[in-house]
Amino acid sequence: MTTAEIGVFGGSGFYAFLDDPEEILVDTPYGKPAAAVTVGSIAGRRVAFIPRHGKDHEFPPHRVPYRANVWAMKELGVTRLFGPSAAGSLRRDIPPRTFVVCDQAIDLTKSRENTFFDGPITTHVSFADPYCPVLRQGLVGASVELGIDHRVGGTMVVIEGPRFSTRAESKMFATVGGDVIGMTQFPEAALAKELELCFANVALVTDYDVGVDGIAPVSHAEVLKVFGENLDKLRDLLFAAIPRVPEDRSGCDCSHALGGSGHD
Ligand SMILES: [Zn+2]
Repeated sequence: MTTAEIGVFGGSGFYAFLDDPEEILVDTPYGKPAAAVTVGSIAGRRVAFIPRHGKDHEFPPHRVPYRANVWAMKELGVTRLFGPSAAGSLRRDIPPRTFVVCDQAIDLTKSRENTFFDGPITTHVSFADPYCPVLRQGLVGASVELGIDHRVGGTMVVIEGPRFSTRAESKMFATVGGDVIGMTQFPEAALAKELELCFANVALVTDYDVGVDGIAPVSHAEVLKVFGENLDKLRDLLFAAIPRVPEDRSGCDCSHALGGSGHD
């Protein structure tokens, strides 16, 4: 049964999305998702929303039930998934309040359940391009339409957390090509790929990371403050991006991501 075709995960400070939602309790083989799923309509499209950290931010980044969250979306019929997040900037030329439509990512997480293929069925999903080009295009188009400061493309470094980086770590992340840094894109993006969902991120830059020269360390309260001030913008951006999602999935390869892996 298709209850929704498009899914949205809320990040820190982003706990409600739809105007007139219906609440659905979903259970999965991986336990319950972080919160009840809310489902509603945007421009005639059925949309499901889960705050990935739970309704009251009770799941820190390393404890988010990523597998249950992504599975619940699939169970409801979702084929397209937006996973926006807050992020720190690793570069002076990406200032706070910029929206980065990431096209690459580096996974430096350590202790998370990061696959649906735990055996006996084994597969190795292609992950060269973690983000769906069609959804990314929708996010960029919506940013242009709304006049939102944005950056097309960027590499998200995903750290384990919950602590922030040391200055040396932060400098290293920039040196290896990172543009922004967060704690939740993995395993979320990889799990979506394993279920052959289209997945895209837009990162709202809340602060400069500590490796950017001359920057004082940030507190979580400051991060939440900037995020809160820009939450309406993020919501508007997603509302404008959703109608841009094409009905059919012929424009990308996400729907057969497992093809050639020996399990399709
Ligand atoms: Zn796709």
